[in-house]
Amino acid sequence: MARTSIPGYARVKYDCDKCVAYCCSIYERVQVTPKDVRRLAEHFKVTTEAAALRFTKLNGKERILRRRADRLFGQACMFLNQDTRKCTIYDARPDVCREFPDSSRCAYFDLIEWERKQQDDPDVIPLVKITFRESK
Ligand code: SF4
Ligand code: SF4
Repeated sequence: MARTSIPGYARVKYDCDKCVAYCCSIYERVQVTPKDVRRLAEHFKVTTEAAALRFTKLNGKERILRRRADRLFGQACMFLNQDTRKCTIYDARPDVCREFPDSSRCAYFDLIEWERKQQDDPDVIPLVKITFRESK
């Protein structure tokens, strides 16, 4: 989801340019608010109805971004460039993408850095899957 500064933090300790966009790939639900849909509509110069239909879908009562097949993780956000691993709608991305990881550290960046060091291979890509279970 890729950003370089966070209000309140002097500097972030992750570098999205050295990452493979775990955040845009492994989360099945990227929430989209009505404001996000309006921003997408403006960006693509379509109606909000068309933007909602083309770029989002309902997951129960929640509206989320559509996904598509991804060569690394199986699936990823439809707006992820799979060659550069960068967001293709950076200025129009949803708020939740702007907020992630809401910390000076990113656990996935720590993981890729750690594995690359462990494997002594600057290009290795640890694959990750994350699932959630309701607690009771
Ligand atoms: S909109 Fe952009 S930043 Fe958000 S999940 Fe998709 S590719 Fe990532
Ligand atoms: S997983 Fe973390 S380091 Fe990687 S692109 Fe997303 S925010 Fe950046």
